[in-house]
Amino acid sequence: MPDIRPTAGSGALVLNATYEPLCVVSVRRAAILVLSAKAVCVADGEGILHSARNALPVPSVVRLTRFVRVPYRTHVGLSRRAIFARDGWRCAYCRGPAETIDHVFPRSRGGRHAWENVVAACARCNHTKGDKTPAELGWRLHNLPAAPKGTAWRVLGHRAPDPRWADWLDLREPETEAAA
Ligand SMILES: [Zn+2]
Repeated sequence: MPDIRPTAGSGALVLNATYEPLCVVSVRRAAILVLSAKAVCVADGEGILHSARNALPVPSVVRLTRFVRVPYRTHVGLSRRAIFARDGWRCAYCRGPAETIDHVFPRSRGGRHAWENVVAACARCNHTKGDKTPAELGWRLHNLPAAPKGTAWRVLGHRAPDPRWADWLDLREPETEAAA
């Protein structure tokens, strides 16, 4: 095991051999993949990692040298942070800063705890709304709540992407061309 000191708060994006984003791992884990030839670095981060025998740039994006088949989760976990991230940290009713989670159709009346029925809300709207539905109050939702979709969500969840990962996470289709 190389002795690699991790850079605080950083991670590395792991791509499949096909360039499809897979997951985010610690910089240390990514460096071990590179040093053991299980992955190649395709984008450097900042700084140099030192081990007993090697020095390599901090990996920001690595690509696996062999294709791995991954069973994907078909849905994103419903966490408070994930709901805030989906709704842009804004109240679904007044667009003010969100502080709470509201069930659009109230739980007390059988509303489900599901992506389609939860929104970020400010404390004031949440309190005012109470056990009523938006329709009963004459309120409108800015967006119809739905489960988040797409590669970035699958890979990152509520995690903020490193700007260096944008090229890979924004891909419409996985690249299949062979590396030179
Ligand atoms: Zn509000």
